[in-house]
Amino acid sequence: MKTLACKDMADGSTCPFVAEGMTDEEVMSKMTEHVKAMHKEDYDKMMSQMSMDEMKAMMKSKMKEM
Ligand SMILES: [Zn+2]
Repeated sequence: MKTLACKDMADGSTCPFVAEGMTDEEVMSKMTEHVKAMHKEDYDKMMSQMSMDEMKAMMKSKMKEM
């Protein structure tokens, strides 16, 4: 099981959401959906500053193996 905490994605974030999944792809798609739905401004900002590949690399680096 892999997990990725929303608060690890942005400095100062206190969001309690944690994406969980068996694969990197599953965790990343859950996190992307969450950020799109709940943090639209942050999502737009991130997407204007980095490519999808950079975003995925960032999420992978913050993922934890349970
Ligand atoms: Zn969040």
